Amino acid sequence: MLVLAAPMQGWVTELEEVPDPVFAERMLGDGIAIDPTGSTLHAPCDGEILAIHRAGHAVTMRAANGAELVMHVGLETVALDGKGFEVVAKAGQQVRTGDLLLRFDLDFLAQNAKSLLTPIVVTNGDTFRIARRAVDCSVAPGDFLIELAGGTAGATVAVVGIEATRALPVPLRHGIHARPAAALAACAKGFEAVLALEASGRKANLRSPAALLTLGVALGTRVTIRGTGTDAEAAVEAVASLIASGMGEAAELPPEPPAKPAAVIRHAKAPFGPEERPVLRGITAAPGLAIGVAVRVDPPAVEPPEDADDPIVEKHALTAARARVAERLGKAREGAAPAQQEILGAHLALLDDPELIDAAEAQIAAGRSAGIAWRRSVEVQAAALEQLDDPRLRERVADLRDLERQVLLTLAGAEAAPELPDRAILIAEELLPMQLVLLDRSRIAGIATSGGGPTSHVAILAAAAGIPALVAIGAEALRIADGTELILEAEAKRLQVNPEPGAGAAAERALTDRRAKRAADLAVAHEDCRLADGLRIEVFANLGGAGEAAAAIAAGAEGCGLLRSEFLFLDRRSAPDEEEQYRQYQAAAVGLEGRPLIIRTLDAGADKPLAYLAMPAEENPALGVRGIRIGLQQPELLRTQLRAILRVAPQGQCRVMLPMIASLAELRRVRIMLDEERAALGLTVPIELGIMVETPAAAVTADILAAEADFLSIGTNDLTQYTLAMDRGNPALAGELDGLHPAVLRLIAQAAAGGAKHGRVTGVCGSLGSEPLAAGLLVGLGVRELSATAAAVPSVKAALRPLDLARCEALAETALALDSADAVRAHLAAALP
Ligand code: PEP
Ligand code: MG
Repeated sequence: MLVLAAPMQGWVTELEEVPDPVFAERMLGDGIAIDPTGSTLHAPCDGEILAIHRAGHAVTMRAANGAELVMHVGLETVALDGKGFEVVAKAGQQVRTGDLLLRFDLDFLAQNAKSLLTPIVVTNGDTFRIARRAVDCSVAPGDFLIELAGGTAGATVAVVGIEATRALPVPLRHGIHARPAAALAACAKGFEAVLALEASGRKANLRSPAALLTLGVALGTRVTIRGTGTDAEAAVEAVASLIASGMGEAAELPPEPPAKPAAVIRHAKAPFGPEERPVLRGITAAPGLAIGVAVRVDPPAVEPPEDADDPIVEKHALTAARARVAERLGKAREGAAPAQQEILGAHLALLDDPELIDAAEAQIAAGRSAGIAWRRSVEVQAAALEQLDDPRLRERVADLRDLERQVLLTLAGAEAAPELPDRAILIAEELLPMQLVLLDRSRIAGIATSGGGPTSHVAILAAAAGIPALVAIGAEALRIADGTELILEAEAKRLQVNPEPGAGAAAERALTDRRAKRAADLAVAHEDCRLADGLRIEVFANLGGAGEAAAAIAAGAEGCGLLRSEFLFLDRRSAPDEEEQYRQYQAAAVGLEGRPLIIRTLDAGADKPLAYLAMPAEENPALGVRGIRIGLQQPELLRTQLRAILRVAPQGQCRVMLPMIASLAELRRVRIMLDEERAALGLTVPIELGIMVETPAAAVTADILAAEADFLSIGTNDLTQYTLAMDRGNPALAGELDGLHPAVLRLIAQAAAGGAKHGRVTGVCGSLGSEPLAAGLLVGLGVRELSATAAAVPSVKAALRPLDLARCEALAETALALDSADAVRAHLAAALP
């Protein structure tokens, strides 16, 4: 028996209360949590300190009887990189009960950590079990906390069989800390093989999270996984893949010694010669066609000196550089488009961020140069944001880096934006918003980047400014030399390098035609959309927020076919309450001036994780708890949203749409909730409840689902990803991921037929619905409503008007029998005007 004393002052609570599944679900082991009111951590028993994390937030120790404990001060405190902690003890030290291990700044943690709750966990629960524990009471260091029973060391099992090893560098931002250690141990426990992880000459049992923590594995540390047993190969492979996946905390590996110079190879590739005419493929970030010449706009690397002599001079230099950048941004903001103004405003606010400035000035006071001080301060903030695991917040990291470079360039006196030739197509690894803003817009014809994503700020800016943009082209884009002729076809996802003679003239004609056509389409966009034979096809717009309603109406949208309600839930620390949601949905309803408004319930998870939902890290998030599955697991979240939607006036304007439906049971459960909430609010008008068809399961059982769903709307983005088994966010697959693949088209036909069987309208709100080329084909497949991006509404309507149903059905019949998306595209291009 071993008694553990409270290691800190505070309130003792159950482990379930900890908003982190690693602890709440006892992935690391059994224990309790303390909500601290003091600011010190002490040894709870006599024993040895096995490890103290570099960030100072977690201590692992072994009691004299062999019990292993982890004490983790606060949640997500690893991201604070040691800030707020003062480590007193050290690894290897023998301690007595009550010895001081750490001091921490409670106020700082309260403001900067996800939670103060401090789990105290026994990690070798196979051998020890908790016989008695304090709970729901306040404790001071030394008070009774836990009584442990057990302690006979597990028998050693002789293992025979296959041996396997794998070595790899660890691509985890904070190395192997508590969360990854728990996940690795859980993975290892799924196999018979005896597994060990080796790093820096030390070895740990992979089933023991505490042992893993003692290895002190950091980002880039090379580890070896060793397994012995019949399933050793599979086990080692599983652990290796888990580590290589980044475990939700992926970070770029620091450059490795010469053995594997990936980055070097990429930059060493020769530029394309004048006779090389490759066609590169990327992801559309803003539509359009551009003809022009390449201008490389990679910002010059700035390497400020490490140290400086006079802190006062450095402090002034930093203040002046920040002021200079702020002045430039302020000027650029005047007269910029609203989307640009918002982004520039965010940059200006960051420039004045007291935390950034304080951290930089502290570095300067410690003797660093202004440039290095600014860089380090930005690094800390960027690391904290990256830790949040939210793709949108990661894009904020790009903003921070953008600011970092602007200030460093200004400090180095090299701030001028390059002079652009006419019709410049900007080529960069990743363009930064400010670079774009500071360049002469009238000379930019297009943008093509090797990296980046379609939802980055640059993509939003480019779309707002009407600049065609292609992103995630890959390293080949960086082989394009300055002055190379290019044709960028954003919708076709193509970048022609050194186009064939004659291609330029054809593209010029296409450009002139496009402009004329756009004007003509817009002129009649406000009329209802009907085919030539009179068949009514509703063309709606997808909205990302209430503020976009006016532009959608101006573009001729007949309603909103998809309000992505995630906009309200992302980028914040807690879910919006009912009142806030209601106000936003009501604003969208008012903005649509009475037109239908389809609100999709929260579609988080996978590429849209929400930090505050306390969802366990998943090995395969796209196949995990996302879409409606979250709402069903956390019903209060969904009920709050349903109430907010139900309250929107006038009743009947809003419809509810459920994402990621895979079976009828899910729809039924939501229908019950909706009916209950409606009754509680005393509402009498029924509200339509529809489903998104995004899983192959929903498409092939649409006839069953449509018996109870009021409408169906096909999310072709996800339906394509799940049908083709291709991650929609993977740039390496961007060229293949096409909703016109006949496999997807067959599912669309099946979904529409299922809807029609029960007289339900089947729409398309995925990005295929924004492609004028696909519009007639979709109608031929049975689709009767399209929801497109606002900008695409005029051209989608125009594409449908000259067609009749027979023609659309003929297009569909042929397409369904073709063997590839390319063949379908070619068929449509040839068959349509
Ligand atoms: C889709 O999957 O096609 C869809 C419309 O939903 P989202 O793109 O928001 O996942
Ligand atoms: Mg989707």
